[in-house]
Amino acid sequence: MAGAVPVVVVGGGLAGLCTALACAPRRVLLLDAVPRGAGSASRLAQGGIAAALGPGDSAQAHARDTLAAGAGLADPARVRQLVASAPWAVHWLIAQGVAFDREHGRLALGREGGHGAHRIVHAGGDATGAVILDALARQAAMQQRIERREGLRVDALLLRAGRVAGVRAVAPDGGVELIETGAVVLATGGIGGLYARGTNPAGHRGAGLALALAAGARLRDLEYVQFHPTALAVGAGRLPLVTEALRGAGAVLRDARGRPAMAGVHPRGDLAPRDVVARRLWRLDREGGAFLDATALASGWEQAFPTVLAACRAHGLDPCAAPVPVTPAAHFHMSGIEVDAFGATRLPGLHAVGEVACTGVHGANRLASNSLLECVVMGHRLGLTLAQACPMPPPAGVSRLCEAGAPLQEPALARLRARLWQAAGPLRSPAALARAADELQGADADTRVAAAMLAAMRANRRSAGAHWLEREDEAALPA
Ligand SMILES: Cc1cc2nc3c(=O)[nH]c(=O)nc-3n(C[C@H](O)[C@H](O)[C@H](O)COP(=O)(O)OP(=O)(O)OC[C@H]3O[C@@H](n4cnc5c(N)ncnc54)[C@H](O)[C@@H]3O)c2cc1C
Repeated sequence: MAGAVPVVVVGGGLAGLCTALACAPRRVLLLDAVPRGAGSASRLAQGGIAAALGPGDSAQAHARDTLAAGAGLADPARVRQLVASAPWAVHWLIAQGVAFDREHGRLALGREGGHGAHRIVHAGGDATGAVILDALARQAAMQQRIERREGLRVDALLLRAGRVAGVRAVAPDGGVELIETGAVVLATGGIGGLYARGTNPAGHRGAGLALALAAGARLRDLEYVQFHPTALAVGAGRLPLVTEALRGAGAVLRDARGRPAMAGVHPRGDLAPRDVVARRLWRLDREGGAFLDATALASGWEQAFPTVLAACRAHGLDPCAAPVPVTPAAHFHMSGIEVDAFGATRLPGLHAVGEVACTGVHGANRLASNSLLECVVMGHRLGLTLAQACPMPPPAGVSRLCEAGAPLQEPALARLRARLWQAAGPLRSPAALARAADELQGADADTRVAAAMLAAMRANRRSAGAHWLEREDEAALPA
């Protein structure tokens, strides 16, 4: 693609695609380390996207639930802005060709933890992310102004005269390429792959945070890591998610003796905010484990929950016949690269969007299905801003290459994941955090990001949302 210097978007998940589509009157170069969105969390999204579209529901109620889940630490103005755009986001996705599930001709609305109303729009039952990503990838392929290059991993930012001047990308054969631009968007996703148990793709280990750290951009609130309460407990590593929408449809969490696990823990019971449920299940891990009982949902599994059904069957489990074992797993990072309301960081020329960015809308704990929403709304807004900005040639001057650091290799990676899981999970103690921080030292990208997260966790002595400090005498590790 010849012509003007492109806006470079790093990451082809939902946030990167939405940014590229909105920016496309300009030339856009969309880079991704993994082809066809296969390395993205967006493709795995199950439950859906939150929007107040149902009878009696309102943006105000959606904002109230978002702020309550965020434990008082979300930015009210940003939250109001986000949820007010939610109905528009759903209709924009429909216009891009996303076929959301319908009931009697109307959008079918599910319910998830922390929501006071049915407001989760979904597609393909529990295959929402894949359906959305495929539709947007088709749109991007039709846009002549978007060039998509896959298999390129960005491992450094180029700086000149205090501005971002480009990126360095590494091909699978080890070849490197410098791409010059005055506008870089990081849309690299989250950090769940840094933990021994997580729902994210294994490669999600904070690449964007490592790049931002190296370049001196400001990171924010790194201690707030959301643990999804119900990953399928089939060992360690990347675990299949068991969507919260199942509990919205009536499934019940039980302890090892079959008793309702959430009884008396929170007024919303099984649909309490995620941090509350995750802490309860983390404790139950020490007492024989937890189970999701969806046996009362007798029919409709193939249509409503095909992804969960397939994952259970792949592990020899039948969720229609018996409760399935579940465990908390690292799922979402509320924190990230600090950005303004338009996705700009404080480092000129550097922007961030999606899970890698911190806009302040999630506070200490994200409300279910608000992440896809944020990707669409913020991606669109950032793309439009970049499309309308003056051309951004790379600045002149002496170059400085800010390297994220090499990815950590096994077995050191397994040790880092185990350490974070033990010390920086749903329940933390100052002593365990200090031990982990002492142990984790290195110049590789993974250790740098983990060390920054541990430093933030140690610095914040106030339990809120997903950052929860337990008393030292409670801090025995789960088996
Ligand atoms: C199992 C699961 C279920 C979920 N369900 C829901 C849900 O129902 N509703 C909801 O709102 N949220 C859900 N979430 C959260 C949501 O999916 C994510 O927060 C969101 O999709 C993140 O989108 P993103 O575009 O920021 O990042 P991603 O979709 O993760 O995309 C990041 C992309 O960047 C690429 N990349 C990373 N580093 C580099 C690099 N250095 N160079 C080049 N490319 C790079 C990756 O390959 C990837 O394609 C779920 C998450 C998971 C894991």
